Amino acid sequence: MSNVIFGFTFDAQILFKMFKSHKKIIIAIDGYSSSGKSTLAKEIAKLLDYKYIDSGAMYRAVTLFALRNKLIDNINHKVNIEKLQSFINQIHINFKYNSETNNQETYLNNENVEAEIRKMNVSNNVSFISKIGFVRKKMVSFQQEMGKEKGIVMDGRDIGTVVFPEAELKVFMNANAEVRAKRRFQELKENNVDVSYNEILENVKKRDHIDETRDESPLKKANDSIELDNSNMNRQEQLEWIIGLVKKRIN
Ligand code: C5P
Repeated sequence: MSNVIFGFTFDAQILFKMFKSHKKIIIAIDGYSSSGKSTLAKEIAKLLDYKYIDSGAMYRAVTLFALRNKLIDNINHKVNIEKLQSFINQIHINFKYNSETNNQETYLNNENVEAEIRKMNVSNNVSFISKIGFVRKKMVSFQQEMGKEKGIVMDGRDIGTVVFPEAELKVFMNANAEVRAKRRFQELKENNVDVSYNEILENVKKRDHIDETRDESPLKKANDSIELDNSNMNRQEQLEWIIGLVKKRIN
């Protein structure tokens, strides 16, 4: 007997074992911008009936808050650190599952901001907000709280290194920048976001550089993380790859 998940077919016996009789683990998926982390994380979370958390959405929500309150200059990206710090405890982020879109959506102070946080003005500013120590501290403690019971897949930049250094499975994803920009371009076009391929390529490269070179929790592969270069892999191949790793850890 087989089950279909996200259009892929899996053996029901394997699924049954995964769902019912395993110990709950933490899966940390880190990697470069638009490397397909969230697609893979969502799919494996669904398969295991785990919680999925997009940690990047949280930094994006803080960035949206900062932009709306003029705490960051949209042109030179200068942040009013003192003011942002005084506001930080007024920023409440949570996620709700939307069964119509089959998507986890991000809420900022009870407003659904899922579409807003994916826009280019947020993408262009987020790395300047996410490098601030007190912002990271707040997000990390929230993320750790969400993972207390395990049974969670979280994607981001520092999940395997800082948020859950004890995670049972750590994956580090990469693909060449052009492939990543092309995928992101396709995704945004499908969502009717008006943006050019070159703008995305530039944004992806710039964010990677800032994320990798920042002082606070830079993007880097944890020593015990398993690398996945998915430049030439489709979704089904990536999912099968991670299922193989999960199986070894849950029994
Ligand atoms: O994952 P996504 O590309 O949406 O993340 C947006 C930005 O949030 C990243 O470019 C990075 O600056 C920041 N981020 C981070 N730490 C995480 C997740 C995201 O610094 N764990």
